[in-house]
Amino acid sequence: MPHSFTPPSAGDLNYLKSLNRSTVLSTVRRHPGVSRADIALRTGLTKATVGGVVQALVKGGWLREGELHARGGGRPGRSLHLDGERHCMLGAEVGVKGLRLVACNLLGEVLASCHCPAPPTDPESTAVRLAELLVALREEPAVSARHCLGLGVAVPGPVSTRAPILSLAPNLGWVDVDFLALLRREPGLPAGTWLLDNEANAAAFGEFYFFEGVPPESIAYISAGSGIGCGVVSGDHFPVVPRGHQGLVGEIGHTVIQPDGSRCHCGNRGCAETLVSGWALREALDLDSEASLGDAVAARAEEPAVRALIQRAGQALGLLLLNLHHTLNPSMLILGGSLMQLGEPLTGPALDYFTSHQNDLLRQSQSVPVKIIADGTFTAARGVAAEVMARSAIDI
Ligand SMILES: [Zn+2]
Repeated sequence: MPHSFTPPSAGDLNYLKSLNRSTVLSTVRRHPGVSRADIALRTGLTKATVGGVVQALVKGGWLREGELHARGGGRPGRSLHLDGERHCMLGAEVGVKGLRLVACNLLGEVLASCHCPAPPTDPESTAVRLAELLVALREEPAVSARHCLGLGVAVPGPVSTRAPILSLAPNLGWVDVDFLALLRREPGLPAGTWLLDNEANAAAFGEFYFFEGVPPESIAYISAGSGIGCGVVSGDHFPVVPRGHQGLVGEIGHTVIQPDGSRCHCGNRGCAETLVSGWALREALDLDSEASLGDAVAARAEEPAVRALIQRAGQALGLLLLNLHHTLNPSMLILGGSLMQLGEPLTGPALDYFTSHQNDLLRQSQSVPVKIIADGTFTAARGVAAEVMARSAIDI
């Protein structure tokens, strides 16, 4: 069983069925209200195959039938929608500043959530606390009557590609943590699909998978919080998340942008995180671990040194956007993470830098939208819940 979302492969049991089921689900997700005939037209599957897959998905509580539509003189067909009533997925983010949990339905709608702002300590006690919160979330009235497809956990560091191990979370000081094994010791958690993924990958996956309408061909999501990470997703019916040889794809916070610059938590010098990250800004403002970065910056917004600090951080973020655009050329860039709470003083210089430093190559191409998620409290938790849904659809 893969520990992060991966598309079905020829080694999966019932490979063809998985492929067809995920293709039908993805078509309904992108085009709510389609009929069986529409799905056959859009996917190239035969009407008989679509009919069989839809019947099983309706019976299993994944799809529901809507109103009858007469189309072009042919037989009327019932519209199809994802069923938001019968299943749920649990998603949790172990963040540097706290735990965030959601229960979602198949439409990506958050049914219940919980934000515990106490920073995690060691892995063992964090697993105990997270399990307690997950059990409480599962008992919420909007969640308890549903069938739970499983549980995903997003973590602030790279996850090994060979095993569900958090390799390193520099901003927590955790090394080689098998977090799902710690959670499995705890009672009351749902069975089903269990996944572990890096928080930026999870957030990127969720933004792509639960995109309203047809998602862009590819997106790059920058998670700007205590650290800086990036997730990349592309694909058609099966989102593909490149993870790299050691699961290190997207660790853009540790790309060096100032040779001989300040020392980073990773041990190197001049990483992007030394200029734009929650931890670097907190150190520069001399904040203790309890203080809110957003409140501190708002209270001192008129101080020239603070304004310059945030502006310089914004420019570094813009530089990262530009470098990502050059290296990956995604169809959409998304900025998220807790630093977005700093608002225009941070994002303004970032977008200015991004647009004013585009070279001739980029200027000739169509402009790429940059979406900003102002409140990304649950983006990663919802994203890893999306991964649980996508993997469950393969393994039904
Ligand atoms: Zn670094």
